[in-house]
Amino acid sequence: MSATRLPKMIALIVSLSACTTAAHKPEAGPDMAILWASNAAEYQAISAQVYAQATRDLPRLLADQSWSAVPGYEADTSRPPAVILDVDETVLSGVEMESTMIPFTTQRQYEWGLSHTAIPIRGSVEFVDAAKRAGVEVFFVTNRPCMEYEGAEGNCPIEQGTIDDLLEVGIETDAEHLLFANEREGWDREKVVRREYISKTHRVIMLFGDDFADFVACARGTPKLPCTKAATRVSRAEALDTYKNYWGNGWYILPNPMYGSWTSVD
Ligand SMILES: [Mg+2]
Repeated sequence: MSATRLPKMIALIVSLSACTTAAHKPEAGPDMAILWASNAAEYQAISAQVYAQATRDLPRLLADQSWSAVPGYEADTSRPPAVILDVDETVLSGVEMESTMIPFTTQRQYEWGLSHTAIPIRGSVEFVDAAKRAGVEVFFVTNRPCMEYEGAEGNCPIEQGTIDDLLEVGIETDAEHLLFANEREGWDREKVVRREYISKTHRVIMLFGDDFADFVACARGTPKLPCTKAATRVSRAEALDTYKNYWGNGWYILPNPMYGSWTSVD
């Protein structure tokens, strides 16, 4: 291309791009995921749909004496029933923080929680209420990490921060029902350890999350102990089949196109 044509070509691209963005459609690009999570009624509808289905399934799974939602853990009806939910993008929305486009850090997430009112994922608060009314214990397994944060006291200030965030959307919980990454020895970001910890004392009947790793063990491209092998797109696709009887039947996944373990696999 000649040197004289190049500026004209650039001008044309810029003007076409301006036309596109001036219309109703957002410009295609890496932030489409955040725009979708911020703006799309479709996202709200999917979340409402997931929790509506879960609320309908709750009495059936509670009554089914043979049902356990944690593979490898047989139903033990002598144990109290429980459900496990992830927190971010499952119960609380982080889209406002994501939409600022400032790179994510755990410190920033902590400060954001302190300075902003939490926003619920549609349907989640009503589901938690329904589960509690049905006599089901509600646990939250989150990868918000127990660690020291600048400007905060103690070695796990995110614990009270998360209790407060959940209360802001209308969910009362306590430290006993919130399990953080690094809270205990062996509790790495791989959540299977914490799911199994709860399963030793409870009959877990439902799992909720926005990430494959909220359900499936060793689903990360960057494995965390006790997993040592990297997941791949192929191994994750195989897990879809392995656990085909769980999806929408004890396992309820919310959409999150913004981040997640899916971005780490080859
Ligand atoms: Mg999450």
